[in-house]
Amino acid sequence: MTEFRKDEYKKVQIPFGFNGCEQQETKILKTSTEYLRDWRKKHPIKARRYGRNYRRNHPDRRRHLNREHRKEIILLLGSRCWNPDCPIPSKKLNLITLQIDHVNGEGNKERREANSTYGYYTRILKKIRSGSRDYQLLCPYCNWLKRYEKKEPNCYPKVM
Ligand SMILES: [Zn+2]
Repeated sequence: MTEFRKDEYKKVQIPFGFNGCEQQETKILKTSTEYLRDWRKKHPIKARRYGRNYRRNHPDRRRHLNREHRKEIILLLGSRCWNPDCPIPSKKLNLITLQIDHVNGEGNKERREANSTYGYYTRILKKIRSGSRDYQLLCPYCNWLKRYEKKEPNCYPKVM
């Protein structure tokens, strides 16, 4: 195993000429992002510790990112309630109340698999960007109604 050298990871263009033919060969070495990725693979325990420390020392960073991701998801999904029979007029609906609904249910399962709010939102965002139709926006009223009518597990209102 050879040690990584940081300067090896810069993208460089090396002029290449041989017997009068003026060719240019672009030699792409690893970028700093790739260097970091390789380093993380090589030192998984250290990388995990660094990540944990960073998250501990910057608690607002993730909170901020989570909000930004949620905002982007809502924008991408059209920032409205998707139920055509929604009783709340769209002008009166405050966007912060909108809920991201899983069309086929199983939102709990996905939340559990993601480990963290950050992972959950990034995962949804990635899926939506790649054209997934598994998600829709619903206002709380329509979301609870859908849960009740479709008998999605663990989702009965406690009063009923
Ligand atoms: Zn609605």
